[in-house]
Amino acid sequence: MDMQRLANTVERLQELEITAQELRIMAPLLNPANLPIVEKSIAEMLESLPQELRARYEKLRKDGLACNRAINGTCQNCRMTLTQPLLSRMKNNETEWICPNCGHFITLVEQPKM
Ligand SMILES: [Zn+2]
Repeated sequence: MDMQRLANTVERLQELEITAQELRIMAPLLNPANLPIVEKSIAEMLESLPQELRARYEKLRKDGLACNRAINGTCQNCRMTLTQPLLSRMKNNETEWICPNCGHFITLVEQPKM
């Protein structure tokens, strides 16, 4: 299993769900023709996730976001800084891209320090 791809899928899935929510809110004004397309993509992405990760995702989404960025190794949800050994294991595909502190899915983002 490609952990990075999985994390990216979860991030994209979450974006689509937020888009779908917005489209539903706007529906009376816009009659959004692409809502069914977005909903189909969401269903397909959920299907593509391994059972255990799908359950984690759906549980987290009940309370808000399920996926956050870790910018330069710091989880943007709980602010914990991931250890270098953990980051290495994640990048080497040896462990899931999940914050060990808050349990959210994370995508790793490198930003140049100011
Ligand atoms: Zn966290």
